[in-house]
Amino acid sequence: MSGRILIVDAVPTNRIVLRVKMLAAQFAVEACASSAEARAIIANQCPDLILVNLSDPTEDRHGFCTALRADPNTSTIAIIAVGTADTSRARFAALDAGADDVLARPINDALLLARIRSLLRARSVTEELLLRDSTSRALGFCENRDSLVNTGRITVITPEAAPMPELIATLNAGLGHSVVVQTASAVLRHTDDVHCADLLIIPAAAPCDHAVALFSLVSDLRSRVDTRLASLLVMVPDGKPEVGAMFLDLGADDVVMQNALPQEIILRAKALVRRKQLHDALRRNLLDGLQAAVTDPLTGLFNRRYVDHHLARMSEQSAVAGSALAVMMIDIDHFKAINDTYGHAAGDRVLVALAARLRDNLRAVDLVARIGGEEFLIAMPRTSARQAQGAADRLRRLVNQTPFDLGEAYAPIPVTISVGVALSDEAGQDQPDTHLMCDLADAALYRAKSAGRDCVAMHLTAA
Ligand code: GH3
Ligand code: MG
Ligand code: MG
Repeated sequence: MSGRILIVDAVPTNRIVLRVKMLAAQFAVEACASSAEARAIIANQCPDLILVNLSDPTEDRHGFCTALRADPNTSTIAIIAVGTADTSRARFAALDAGADDVLARPINDALLLARIRSLLRARSVTEELLLRDSTSRALGFCENRDSLVNTGRITVITPEAAPMPELIATLNAGLGHSVVVQTASAVLRHTDDVHCADLLIIPAAAPCDHAVALFSLVSDLRSRVDTRLASLLVMVPDGKPEVGAMFLDLGADDVVMQNALPQEIILRAKALVRRKQLHDALRRNLLDGLQAAVTDPLTGLFNRRYVDHHLARMSEQSAVAGSALAVMMIDIDHFKAINDTYGHAAGDRVLVALAARLRDNLRAVDLVARIGGEEFLIAMPRTSARQAQGAADRLRRLVNQTPFDLGEAYAPIPVTISVGVALSDEAGQDQPDTHLMCDLADAALYRAKSAGRDCVAMHLTAA
């Protein structure tokens, strides 16, 4: 995995040893002695991950980490504190300053590399989501980023025989999130609590032979649709860094040694919930942005951009199924007169109400779109000529039989529509040419207008 790594350590031999390890693992590496040099390097080209020695007596390296986390330009850089004293308090202080993980010397190489890979994976997801978010924003498709939900949903997956009340009580007291307890077998049976969890915690209480079952649990959770996006924290037996490395490589987001202070577990859990909720919010915004990109804001129907792509898919499907596809063009008759008589705002409300009438009277598989001011397109898969003509006439009557009631300020407004219909060759041998079908439906619509409006005209052999 490629990635840019910055080593910040005042001791030259520490820098050299780490640099050699990182180069051997194919990372691009820079190294410096002081926080000031580090800041200059970061400003020039932002690294993906920083390995920082927090125990340098000449500098406030905790403050350096806190400042990186507080600055939006550097807040997503992964930080691993190396060379701290091997005590729970030192680990806690490093995590509290914003480090993602802490490794004491002598550093276990397998754990270090697995940790770097896991943090780089997480960072690349964050970066990609942020990039898409900024693109959607630049295109004007997203308004405000969702504010992050503070209450996380946490599921602790306990072994069948060990409900672990102390751990649960610690988490409940320290997290301020709702903690649910599940056994591994219940989790594998797909329950709702797991389905919506932000964080899954797996305490590896048993000795190492038990780890094999947990390895398969972790890879299973990572591959399943309902849990693959949840953060995953695994508690590993003390003194078994290689087991931690395995869990990270199988997809755990974080591992913590079982003898860690409760505060450390809680800090790590909170950071994982925050990251998961940030990713969720960015994904939601992306979906909303995509939705906005293909939707007409006035009526909520699909827009022309969506039609171009979706019609092509419908055409492919109809060729595969050997069934006919119908395309209708609908245009409101004398709409200009409606605007002139009742005002533009009333015209808008007629468009909204008419769109709803069309949508509510078609099948879910039919495509309904607004493709111009008072022009709509409907595409109906698996539809014969007779069915298409019947549907077009039904929609026409649905409009002309009931005037549009816009409330007390207006008398109900009578509206009529004209409809042009084109049908792909019913044999369905060749893939229908949807551009041609739209042109032919348009031509049929023009004939319906010439024939006096409020009627349907068909063009039968379109493609
Ligand atoms: P025809 O029967 O030949 O279709 O006549 P028409 O008046 O419907 O057609 P024309 O193309 O002359 O006028 C369409 C009108 O639709 C003109 C335009 O102001 C109005 N229009 C287009 N978009 C909107 C909209 O979003 N809201 C409102 N209220 N009116 C719109
Ligand atoms: Mg028109
Ligand atoms: Mg019109």
